[in-house]
Amino acid sequence: MAEPGSIADKVKQQADIVRLVGDYVRLKKSGQNFVGLCPFHPEKTPSFAVHPVKQIYHCFGCGAGGDVFKFVMEMEKVAFPEALRLVAEKVGVRLPERAPRTPEEAKATRQRTALVKLHEQAAAFFAEQLESTKEGRLARAYLNDRGLDDETIKAFGIGYAPGAGDALLRRLRELGASPEALAASGLVNKDPAYSGAGDRGLYDRFRRRVMFPIATESGRIVAFGGRALGESEGSGPKYMNSPESPIYSKSRVLYNLHRAKEAVRKQNYAVLVEGYLDCIGAHTAGATNVVASCGTSLTPEQVKLLGRSTHNVVVNFDPDTAGVAATERSLNLLLEQGFQVRVLALPAGTDPDSFVRQQGAAAYREKLKESKPYLDYLAERARGDFDLHSQEGKIAALNFLLPYLARVPNKIRRAEWASELAQRLTIDEALVREELRRAAQERRTEIRLRPEAKAIVERGAAKPAERRLLQILLDNPGIRADILKEMEDAAAHRGAGLEKVFSEVLAMARAEEAITSATLAERLPEAEQRLIYELAFEEKGQSAGTLEEARSCLAAMQRRKLEAELRAVQQQILDAERAKNNDALRDLLSRKQQLSKALEESR
Ligand SMILES: [Zn+2]
Repeated sequence: MAEPGSIADKVKQQADIVRLVGDYVRLKKSGQNFVGLCPFHPEKTPSFAVHPVKQIYHCFGCGAGGDVFKFVMEMEKVAFPEALRLVAEKVGVRLPERAPRTPEEAKATRQRTALVKLHEQAAAFFAEQLESTKEGRLARAYLNDRGLDDETIKAFGIGYAPGAGDALLRRLRELGASPEALAASGLVNKDPAYSGAGDRGLYDRFRRRVMFPIATESGRIVAFGGRALGESEGSGPKYMNSPESPIYSKSRVLYNLHRAKEAVRKQNYAVLVEGYLDCIGAHTAGATNVVASCGTSLTPEQVKLLGRSTHNVVVNFDPDTAGVAATERSLNLLLEQGFQVRVLALPAGTDPDSFVRQQGAAAYREKLKESKPYLDYLAERARGDFDLHSQEGKIAALNFLLPYLARVPNKIRRAEWASELAQRLTIDEALVREELRRAAQERRTEIRLRPEAKAIVERGAAKPAERRLLQILLDNPGIRADILKEMEDAAAHRGAGLEKVFSEVLAMARAEEAITSATLAERLPEAEQRLIYELAFEEKGQSAGTLEEARSCLAAMQRRKLEAELRAVQQQILDAERAKNNDALRDLLSRKQQLSKALEESR
């Protein structure tokens, strides 16, 4: 983001990341770095480090990492331009006025403003309908009957879309809505019989529905969820949402977050439910820190959004809907993002909404207090599903649990989980415990008690040569060009575990871009980003690495490549023998000889 010579680059050069992070986190010097408690995940011992020379930060617990701008973006929940402005202000660099927008940009902004306005007008219209029309009063009686009092209806801005078919459309037109804005809003549909341009053939998308405004984190209404009133006679699906629009992306919005986020931060946890009514039910029961996913499963964007306010969540999904698989997907996403997850399991056949209505608010709060750590919940399920008296049953139970374990990003927590699970499942055979611990450590998803399988895993796991080479490439720019040339000539990075990373380094070198941990990480997916930040903080006897050392890493990678190729050729030879394909066999045998010789010479 900070291109060399750009204003962002200038600001970055003047900013001291240690001082800037120090404004938010109490940092202590440790070796050449600074460490402190991570502001992005809850912890008691510091795993958050700041590198004053490289001007980056990295958390070894949750994997957060980046440069000074990324830190401010994450900390202040702002986009890059705003982070740039904040950092510039702190270091006293004056930013030039923003360049004039392109006409397209200006047009898009105007359109978004118009659409937000339409949604405000629509929300006011729906609320008015619920309040003062005959049809609306019936809807209101229905809501009251479901335990939503007038105060709650008002607090959540709930309204009613009448059945007339064009009531909202007429109102919005009266208020001056343009045909383009109406068409883009998702509030109206178009009758296909009027295929031409213009706004003939438009009608209300939502009819005879209780309307729930859906707002962004900052509280702007950008969409609606509509629940059909009465379950029968062609009233369409029970729930209907606004379609995606220039202001609404379903995967990036959590229902009720704008109201709940204060409480979420204060209590440092969120309650996560599925639907609007569940959310409102939990809220009226006193859980003001509740948000809803409003879909079958969470999206990564929603998890990130929630992660800005807390990393603790109590999941309260409907236990026996089609949701079980969706629930697991959601839980996995949360684990991957370093969340501490608890599970509130309500009695079968109830969801948060119906539970609160039947048992009352106090009972729900009690359940909330009793919510179990995800681990306990899983162990309980394993106990129910497998016979833990037999060795096979125990292995099967562990295989059921390992995929969850493998998703926990923090190594120490994974190890803790592993030993706790062994205890809970009363697994005391040392061999099984050891396998579980290893599998958890290596983030494997399967237990195999065979020595040959173990060997394969070990071979695949450690690739110190690649890691070290990458570290040298980053730390020692003086020899970088030479190593990269040798690597590319020999294609040593092809098929390597870090191939993606090396290819990116090569591309950056070709484009003559500055190569640092931060600039490289920016271009890579999260797993690779973590590795790079980890490497940046790893100290290899203070040495930046020599050309000789780099060459020996390259040679090791070459050997690994040759070995892999040799294994493949040997397999092909077996196949060719079986197929009695003598021509192919001859070629393969000579290829095998070449490879063996090359391998011999490389040792
Ligand atoms: Zn962290």
